[in-house]
Amino acid sequence: MKTVLLFIVVLLMIGGSIQGQSPEVVLLKNVTVIDGSGKPAQRNMSVLIRDGKIGSISKQNNFPNAKVINLAGKTIMPLLTNVHGHLGMSKGTTVGAENFNQDHIIKELERYQSYGVGTVVSMGTDKELIFSIREASRSGKVPGATVYTAGYGFRPPLAGGSTENGMEKIYRPATPEEAIRNVNELVAFKPDMIKIWVDEGGIKPEIYRAIISEAHKHGIRVAAHLYYLEDAHLLLDAGVDIFAHSVRDKEVDDALISKMKAKGTIYIPTLTRDGYEFFYGTTPTWINDPFFKASLEPGVFEMITKEDYKNRIVNNPRYQKNKEAYAMALTNLKKLFDGGVLVVMGTDSGAQPVRAQGFSEHLELQLMVDAGLTPLQAISVATRNSCEALGLKDQGILSAGMRADFVVLNENPEGDIKATQSIYAVWKEGVQVSGAVPK
Ligand SMILES: [Zn+2]
Repeated sequence: MKTVLLFIVVLLMIGGSIQGQSPEVVLLKNVTVIDGSGKPAQRNMSVLIRDGKIGSISKQNNFPNAKVINLAGKTIMPLLTNVHGHLGMSKGTTVGAENFNQDHIIKELERYQSYGVGTVVSMGTDKELIFSIREASRSGKVPGATVYTAGYGFRPPLAGGSTENGMEKIYRPATPEEAIRNVNELVAFKPDMIKIWVDEGGIKPEIYRAIISEAHKHGIRVAAHLYYLEDAHLLLDAGVDIFAHSVRDKEVDDALISKMKAKGTIYIPTLTRDGYEFFYGTTPTWINDPFFKASLEPGVFEMITKEDYKNRIVNNPRYQKNKEAYAMALTNLKKLFDGGVLVVMGTDSGAQPVRAQGFSEHLELQLMVDAGLTPLQAISVATRNSCEALGLKDQGILSAGMRADFVVLNENPEGDIKATQSIYAVWKEGVQVSGAVPK
């Protein structure tokens, strides 16, 4: 009997000491909260964080055992989610297979995260290494933004002997049968979606119809690179799930909007991608911002500010067309957003040296505002909507029970979206993972 009692006492002591080591409870006080839902900011709030999650957001600030952090004057908003990026493609001013290695990809993930991007989808240009990095990333074994991947995308066959930089693992089926075999090979890696390229010279309808129906048999969604309104209609009829870029040749029609709503098709505008086709032909307002320069790989700043680079952009025969395509993308975003289509944030960052990771996601918010969204709408596109598109049920909104994933800002972006760049700190799962963006 005595032994049993002693045993119980020891157990209680162990229990007590384990409880003493439990993760600390943190209270953020006096903070302005933009919750990601599109609702106006709430001022002077107390955010209780426990076990990596938000316990409560309230006016109550008396929690005896909590570690208190006074964030008076600061604003928090959810981490950004980039549903269209590329990992391991660009390094310095180069694009190529040699950039697809663990060290470089982790550096990219850390850069995304230090800019407040908590999750990135690598859209179809990956190599086999991505699948082990993804597992490590999802289980918190590698730092930085959390990885999602479309694995190896689908492009049309290349003319004999030619290659495309950074696209070495891409499938290039010549027949629907080959496309089905490719999908089945890819499905074994459990991609988070499948990427197809549909453009002038892109894969043909009979091929992508086979890819989409085979992917759907396995419960995997298909995202399409596209440009033309006509392709958008054909892709919708074939059952595509995600438009990975804007429709840029014509204004979207009401039939497209109704079809997208009926099917729940997701729209990723990637406005920065289209802007970068001509932005550096002149000198953009952000060119000397430390927040921008810190996002660039070595040599890129020198590249984009050289006269011959500017001249090449301006003298590109497509220069005027690129500007018009961008303007059309802005018009279509506003139309689709107002029409009730699920718009999410993507930038195509990382696919080219000029598409800077981290900065592009903040510029994308600004461009969405240029298209006519309010700052709060743009933020909810990049947070709540983007998490919804990836099925991340406990992320993208700041409320009780959700993950404590957020950016702390020095300024409130409610009135001026550029304030999302005033990063003071980044928190993931209740822990601060970085401070201001290093200059
Ligand atoms: Zn892309």
